Amino acid sequence: MALTPGDDALLAEAAERARRYRRRVDDRPVTPDGAALAGLAAFDEALPEGPGDAGETLALLDDAGSPATVASTGGRYFGFVTGGSLPVTVAAQWLATAWDQNAALPSMSPVAARLHRVVNAWLVDLLGLPDSTTAVFVTGSAMANTSALAAARDAQLARAGWDAPAAGLFGAPPVTVVVGENAHSTLVRALGVVGLGRERVVRVPADDQGRMRADRLPRRVDGPLVVCAQAGEVNTGAFDPFEEVVAWARERDGWVHVDGAFGLWALVDPSREGLTRGATDADSWAADAHKWLNVPYDSGVCLVRHGEDLRRSFAASAAYLPPDTDFEASHHTPQASQRARQVELWAALRTLGRSGVRDLVVRTCDHARTLAARLAEGGLEVLNDVVLNQVLVRAASDEATRALVAAVQADGTCWCGPTRWRGRPAMRVSVSGWATTDDDVARSAAAILAAGGLGARGPRPGG
Ligand SMILES: *Cc1c(COP(=O)(O)O)cnc(C)c1O
Repeated sequence: MALTPGDDALLAEAAERARRYRRRVDDRPVTPDGAALAGLAAFDEALPEGPGDAGETLALLDDAGSPATVASTGGRYFGFVTGGSLPVTVAAQWLATAWDQNAALPSMSPVAARLHRVVNAWLVDLLGLPDSTTAVFVTGSAMANTSALAAARDAQLARAGWDAPAAGLFGAPPVTVVVGENAHSTLVRALGVVGLGRERVVRVPADDQGRMRADRLPRRVDGPLVVCAQAGEVNTGAFDPFEEVVAWARERDGWVHVDGAFGLWALVDPSREGLTRGATDADSWAADAHKWLNVPYDSGVCLVRHGEDLRRSFAASAAYLPPDTDFEASHHTPQASQRARQVELWAALRTLGRSGVRDLVVRTCDHARTLAARLAEGGLEVLNDVVLNQVLVRAASDEATRALVAAVQADGTCWCGPTRWRGRPAMRVSVSGWATTDDDVARSAAAILAAGGLGARGPRPGG
């Protein structure tokens, strides 16, 4: 029996508990209170010696676990760059989890293979990427960056007559790697993982918004070259000047990778063409689905202009032959077995449509601008040009900024994280969740100003 009546009831119970969680997520503090954290002690049990009750296990997970979550699916979580899952993506994932497909090979899951192809084509269309672009679904942009950089390394070395997947990097021609000063920490880590080194890179200075300064790109570069540009600096949301970077790299036959974890989605908004221009001329791109597209964790996309460049690096068997039927995911990333992440992407794209994705981007950016304006009116300093969904603020002093972040977090109306900007503490507000409403923005702005001892009409007299 594939499903006993007890298990059937268990699945229904899980759905009911999940629904209740989502219904109430905005009625609680954004981070768990002390009682909820103390309740986590319920998990500190010895390993059971034998079988236990499934219903009771689920109940414990909900009763002790749900209150100790961060309410990032609600409308007032502005930490890091964190999306909240669209309900249809949660629903689609439930069904796909019940299928429990291995998306590694078409023979293991025809539906996963078909949805891979569909989502690949839709992403190419939606983002305006080259028709030849191959998409692969990985855990997030950290892995998308790693996969793309391995492909970039091997493609550039192959041009120089070196078979890096077979021979490794010892004795290989040196690869020049160029990154912006504000490249994401996971991109730098990825460079280390793929053997290009975290520190043996040319770091191009950034301007006051964190953009790579194209005028500071190195003049002389010989041999294999990989340039990493960024769409969406994690503090300011700024975009590197892709047009200049691509032109510079093309003159040198280099590979251009764009880390667009959240920023790549700005390609859907024609009014942001000034930011994104040239981005689609790159050779590879990393994007998260679990940030701005609002699908559940863990979901990232690695896009490469020519799929063969992924196969060169990741085909897992020497006897492996090119596919003659359908795309084999297992041979295009470091992953073998994998869940069918494309299901949630498909559900999001199918229900939002082109205009819905654009609305999501535009709406969250508008919320960011409104928040920035309210905070500035209230007496906080907005440090960045709010070109996207990120707002960077500072209070009157470093001390006051630290106190502001702590007070916002203690208040619990909304959550914003600390960061450092140009060597000084700042508070970062990222509006990435689909659920944020005008009312959430108003309540959050008021809560932030109150936490800073500021009113909506400027600093209190004498304060
Ligand atoms: C979040 C982020 C990453 C890492 O993505 P994960 O989804 O956490 O793996 C990389 N680059 C940028 C610019 C990011 O914002």
